[in-house]
Parts: sequence; structure tokens; C-alpha cells
Amino acid sequence: MIQRPVLAANWKMHHGPSAATAFMRSFVAAHQPRADRTVIFFPPAPSLPAVVAEAASRTDILVGVQNIHWAEKGAFTGEISAEIAKEAGAKMVLVGHSERRHVFGETDAQCAKKCVAAARVGLPFMLCVGEKIEQREAGETAAVVTRQLREGLGQVGHLITTEFLLAYEPVWAIGTGLTATPTDASAIHTLLRSELTAMIGTRAREIPILYGGSVNVANAATLMAAPEIDGLLVGGASLDAGTWTKIVQA
Ligand code: PEP
Repeated sequence: MIQRPVLAANWKMHHGPSAATAFMRSFVAAHQPRADRTVIFFPPAPSLPAVVAEAASRTDILVGVQNIHWAEKGAFTGEISAEIAKEAGAKMVLVGHSERRHVFGETDAQCAKKCVAAARVGLPFMLCVGEKIEQREAGETAAVVTRQLREGLGQVGHLITTEFLLAYEPVWAIGTGLTATPTDASAIHTLLRSELTAMIGTRAREIPILYGGSVNVANAATLMAAPEIDGLLVGGASLDAGTWTKIVQA
């Protein structure tokens, strides 16, 4: 079981191998392992080996990939499989990040296949859900995240024993400087927990649910302290080692 709180850094398309190595040397020196923290990095795939190498001595740090294809292998230029990601050292897969869904048109059905592919090779996955601003304004947030949760997890045949995490990331809060209030985020996390309970019973309590969307040094501690928020998924503020260290230690 992954120790909570979980602090996950999504570097998106930033930090090639040299920058990733420099970042990790700085972070590993500045942040000593803590029994009450798990730190996850999602670097760009070519930087994965560098981050894995720099974190090799640290059991509190996991390194994953930002995306996979669902097929095991084949003519899918530009894609990587769960099998290849695992062989390259990934210990986790991010699935359904809002940029995958809304920039690259990824559907719930494709997210479901990616969750199945990760589970197939025993890689824990982190499924992201979240509503767009127009859905929020139309009062559809609960329906949207519930559908993304049910459809995203719906094809994993042995969900009860599969390792996974969830991230609630309202699309309107990602990279915008707008953040859900701890109360609003908590309400959605509570809803997700109850939906999960309907799917996997009491094991739902073991599944970390992270909040993401314009987390920074100033708001990290308050968000993390809110009920049902088990950690944070951070984009922009995870790109500087000093800032990230402060967030991890918030
Ligand atoms: C993200 O990329 O998952 C994210 C939450 O980005 P940001 O922290 O920059 O809003």
C-alpha cells in the first residue's frame, strides 16, 4: 500500500535527461526520506532512466510515465506500451491526464484500455478525472467525474486487487492559477470515494485520491489537510527543485 500523503510531480514536456538529473540531485539532497510521504515523478519518457537512476537509493520515490498505449506492441509510431515502460524502469502510469483528454482527444474508452494495459503488467496507474469549466457551470461536475471514474476503471477485470490511485483535477484549474477550494475539492473526493466503495467495497479506503490544479507552495498544506485529500498532483510548481521540495515538505 502506498504511504499517504502522495506528492506527484507531472513534468509534462519539460526537463530532458540533463535537466532531470540536475533536478533529482538537488531534490534527493534536499528532501530526506520520510515515513509519511510518497513522492512520484512523471518525467518525459526519454528522461525516465535518468530520474530512475538518481532515485535508485530511495524507496520513498516512485518514477512513472505520463502516458502509455494499450497494445502490447505493434505499428503505433510514437507510442510506448506498458511493457516497454516497465522494462525502462517505470513503477507507475498516469492515465487520462486532462491534456491527454482535451489536447489529444483521449476518450474514456481509451483511458479504460490504458488502465487494463497497466494492470496487465502489474504497473499501478493513476487515473485522472475532472470537469471542464462549462460542465462545472452547468452543474455537471458530479456526473462528469462519476462517468470518467466508472468508465475508466470499468474494464479492469480484477479491480479489487489492482494497485491504482485517482487524481481529481478540475480542467479549469490546471495551469490557470485557479484552484478549487479545499471544501469544494473535498466534496468531489468524497463523491469519488463513495463511487469507489460501490465498486470495490471497503478497499476503497486504501486508494489514494490526489487533488491537482494550480497547487503551489502557499496552498499545498491547506489542500492536503482537507478531508479525503490524500495528496497532490502538481504540474507547473513541480518544475523547480526548490519549490517542489517545499511542496513535498508542506
Ligand atoms: C497537472 O499537470 O497535472 C497540473 C495539475 O498542472 P498545474 O499544477 O500546473 O496546474
